[in-house]
Amino acid sequence: MTDVEQKIKAFMDEVNAALIAAGRENDKVEIVAAGKNRDRETLLRLYSTGCVSAIGENRVQEFREKYTPEITWDVIGRLQTNKVKYVVGKVRLIQSLDRESLAEEIERVCAARGVVQQCLVEINSGEEEAKGGIRAEELESFLHALEKYPHIAVRGVMAVAPRDIGEDKLTECFSKARDAFLAVRGKRAGFDILSMGMSADFRVALKCGANMLRPGKILFE
Ligand SMILES: *Cc1c(COP(=O)(O)O)cnc(C)c1O
Repeated sequence: MTDVEQKIKAFMDEVNAALIAAGRENDKVEIVAAGKNRDRETLLRLYSTGCVSAIGENRVQEFREKYTPEITWDVIGRLQTNKVKYVVGKVRLIQSLDRESLAEEIERVCAARGVVQQCLVEINSGEEEAKGGIRAEELESFLHALEKYPHIAVRGVMAVAPRDIGEDKLTECFSKARDAFLAVRGKRAGFDILSMGMSADFRVALKCGANMLRPGKILFE
């Protein structure tokens, strides 16, 4: 087994143990590997294990350099409006939809190309000034505003928690995102993804109900 294969297998074991600890042993959890700063060969090796459903990229420039149709890709970082044209139709999910100007541009490009783009709404659950994402309280009104864009299919919510805030605060952040997600799930068709949890906080995210994780470091270092 290569290093990458060993690391993803070990991570899957940890995820399964955390799911059992959370009483969620029958739940399915998808893994999207954060691919920033990793080369295409490494990502192909990881992707070909079949353990990750997509590779998530933060920077569009880096995504364009590494792109290959053999891999399923997501956008997980802040997306500039002028870069939308490079990702629409090429990525499975834009996980960082967080403002109407971005939705407008996604709609415009999708309509011109005749495609529908699946997206997650990003929630800034730690309410950090410097980070993207709407406030959890704004989810329903933002979703309502997105109804006028027929080429955007919102599949759920993505949340990034602040680093090093301790387990109690982390639980608070993730719970807030989860509660906002659950208040909508069931009222909207196809709204079923709760993407939260990275290398340092995936156990807490799983306790709080995440069904999609975005580990980076832990799979490569
Ligand atoms: C980098 C990144 C991750 C992965 O973080 P690690 O600490 O490397 O696990 C997940 N989500 C987003 C949005 C990221 O930018």
